[in-house]
Amino acid sequence: MKHPVTKQKKSASRAKKQYFVFADGARKKLRNMAPLVICSNCKEKKINHTICKNCGFYADKAVKKMASPLDTVTKIKA
Ligand SMILES: [Zn+2]
Repeated sequence: MKHPVTKQKKSASRAKKQYFVFADGARKKLRNMAPLVICSNCKEKKINHTICKNCGFYADKAVKKMASPLDTVTKIKA
């Protein structure tokens, strides 16, 4: 029996796209499996060993400055 031979070469962008679909699925799966812990600062659920998405704290220290709703407003319509 002959081994399977592809009819056409897959373009680099097509291969990359397919890889990212696979990687995204794998990442999502991992995220769902990761144990959730309660943030010590804001008591929100967060993924273990990661920065809290709600307050930007990690190990009781402010690692990332989170934008407050007021910071996102850059232009005031008159
Ligand atoms: Zn938090």
